[in-house]
Amino acid sequence: MDNKFPGKDVTLSDLKEKFPLVAKKNKNHFSSFRIAGVDFGPKNLVTFAGPNMVESEKLIMDVAKNVKKIGANFLRGGAFKPLTFPYRSKKYYETRERGIEWLAKAKEKYNIPIITEIMEEKYIELVCEVTDIIQIGSRNMQNYPFLTACAKTNKPIMLKRHYGASLRDWLGAAEYILCEGNKKVILCERGVSTPHTHRNTSRFLLDLQVVPAAKEITHLPIAVDPSHATFWRPWVEPMTLASIASGADAIMLEVHPDPENSAVDPLQPIDFNSFKNLVKKMDKLAKSIGRKIK
Ligand code: PEP
Ligand code: MN
Repeated sequence: MDNKFPGKDVTLSDLKEKFPLVAKKNKNHFSSFRIAGVDFGPKNLVTFAGPNMVESEKLIMDVAKNVKKIGANFLRGGAFKPLTFPYRSKKYYETRERGIEWLAKAKEKYNIPIITEIMEEKYIELVCEVTDIIQIGSRNMQNYPFLTACAKTNKPIMLKRHYGASLRDWLGAAEYILCEGNKKVILCERGVSTPHTHRNTSRFLLDLQVVPAAKEITHLPIAVDPSHATFWRPWVEPMTLASIASGADAIMLEVHPDPENSAVDPLQPIDFNSFKNLVKKMDKLAKSIGRKIK
């Protein structure tokens, strides 16, 4: 009992024995690193924005141009998507490799770095030609051979928390990446399942307590994805601001020119105008707590 880290399922010996590379060396230890010219660390606030899915070349070009102009640091968008149910429109089956080509074009034309998900080991090489950050989705968080394979590329990695994972499980998964010598790792909270979520709120519950909890233990930057967590457009803005207040180092937002007609999860993206207004508020809030947005 006295070996327990206050308030968490992590024990003090876990820091030395289970995830020594993920664990902070001292109270003020927070990693800072640069990816594609963008600084991650305790003094910055980084924004990833874009559609859930790279639906078409036209869509991703339009989004890249607009989110870059508004102030996003990275363009997000899934070409290889984990979908909860197998039946999807033809659009989805056409994106995949072509989606990666469209992301490459958008990156080149609008000079914006990319974050996109890889789901299978066989696509690591292809996706890494284009992406600046490998996104490991919540569903793959504990696919250890896959984590190792991604880590070996030495590309920066964002590891999303599985919606059923404890902080301890999540940090253990991150250790699999760090122990391959890959140091540029970002953790991302994206909502958890609780007995209350389906009846009382939405599909997931944004676990903002995990941000300060993780920061007591790990030096890695923490991102928050309020789009996936809330699953509901009107809650994205308040929960984004709450995420920043909770200490988030980066925010991932779904932004789409025509949210209601988004090919995947049409309830959660915000449009360009809402993104623009939100960025203004994010900027003000970030400044008030000593963070910079670039
Ligand atoms: C996504 O960001 O597109 C995604 C599928 O997220 P998650 O893995 O958190 O469900
Ligand atoms: Mn999704």
